Amino acid sequence: MTTPHAMTTPTHPALLGSLSSTAAPEQIINFSPGPTSLPKEVEAKIADIFNTTGLTSLAISHRAPEFLAILEHAIASTRKVMEIPDDYEILFTHGGGHGQFAALPLNLCHNASDIATYVVNGTWSIRGRDEASRYCTVQTIDGSAPETGDYTHFPELTEADIDPNSKYLYVCSNETVNGIELHRLPKLLESRKHIPLVVDASSDFSTKPIDWHGSNVGVLFACASKNIGHPGLTMTIIRKDLLGEGKASPLCPGVFNYTTNSEAGNLWNTPATFNIEVVGIVMDWLDSHGGIAENERRSIAKAKQLYEVIDNSNGFYGTPVANKAIRSRMNVPFNVKGGDEELTNQFLIESWEQGMIGLRTLTPFGVGDYLRASLYNGVTKENAATLAEFMCRFARENA
Ligand SMILES: *Cc1c(COP(=O)(O)O)cnc(C)c1O
Repeated sequence: MTTPHAMTTPTHPALLGSLSSTAAPEQIINFSPGPTSLPKEVEAKIADIFNTTGLTSLAISHRAPEFLAILEHAIASTRKVMEIPDDYEILFTHGGGHGQFAALPLNLCHNASDIATYVVNGTWSIRGRDEASRYCTVQTIDGSAPETGDYTHFPELTEADIDPNSKYLYVCSNETVNGIELHRLPKLLESRKHIPLVVDASSDFSTKPIDWHGSNVGVLFACASKNIGHPGLTMTIIRKDLLGEGKASPLCPGVFNYTTNSEAGNLWNTPATFNIEVVGIVMDWLDSHGGIAENERRSIAKAKQLYEVIDNSNGFYGTPVANKAIRSRMNVPFNVKGGDEELTNQFLIESWEQGMIGLRTLTPFGVGDYLRASLYNGVTKENAATLAEFMCRFARENA
């Protein structure tokens, strides 16, 4: 049911970013950009942890054998699902994605004069680059459109743009806000193959295979709260040759130091024990649902339904990234009739009342010009179909 009087006043909870839809609980679909819901089976397993008697991973020493088993399992399951070769270390780090924005230059650049090259093609790579510039000498490959300054494509990586002395080349494999995704990591030119690739995979990790050696991945990190778990934990995967005494900046704090944490087996200080257990449960879920190849097929199928509605709407819906090869499968940005405020509000209220929440949330970059449907692991193909059907119906009624 719609609430017509609320359309003109920005007081309706749906317009204030509320996630407490009045729809029945079984109708709720969480399209939030993160933190967000995990797959239902995973959430049920997490609930089981608290339904059994005995101590949970929230209440045991991180050095107890019970937790060591949980930690080893989370690492082994991640390694299996993501096909991570043995010459990579898996670390559970602190401070979210932002922590890694600082940790990267502090670990890979010994001196502030060391060079790091950043591909900037959206809000998150800007933020990563700006944070790094406090600790090393940053060079930028700018991917903004010359006329508008918009981020709607991924720039070409030419030899001339990549300083051969770069300690690393940084890319964000899914620009969560702009809706640009690298469905496969770039392969560097022969003359730049010595430069390790650093990847912010915060919002697409576990949704497609990674060619660890073929793409020369040096470090890949993902905050857990999009696809693999809960806020407070970040997975950082680092190639072992980048570790070692004296490699990091002498100013690198211990909690951020990859070598220190690797040598301590993830137990240099207290890790986020419960969150690590959750990552293990998510990885087991992926493993038992066809592994990474099948999860990529699911991701493609989910996103396809929404982009098809947008592309076939005769302009009723718009999406900023025209190039289908780099459209994000994780976050589908769209507007309603070119951003018409009244229709957009009506869309938000009606969808919210039917249980579709999180389509417009506040980010560090504001609410943005576009609504956004995020299709992480917690969203099923049927869930995406429900939104696609709603969008079709809304367009028919309001075109
Ligand atoms: C969400 C997100 C981050 C930020 O992570 P925090 O855990 O909030 O620090 C970084 N990069 C990308 C691509 C993201 O989507």
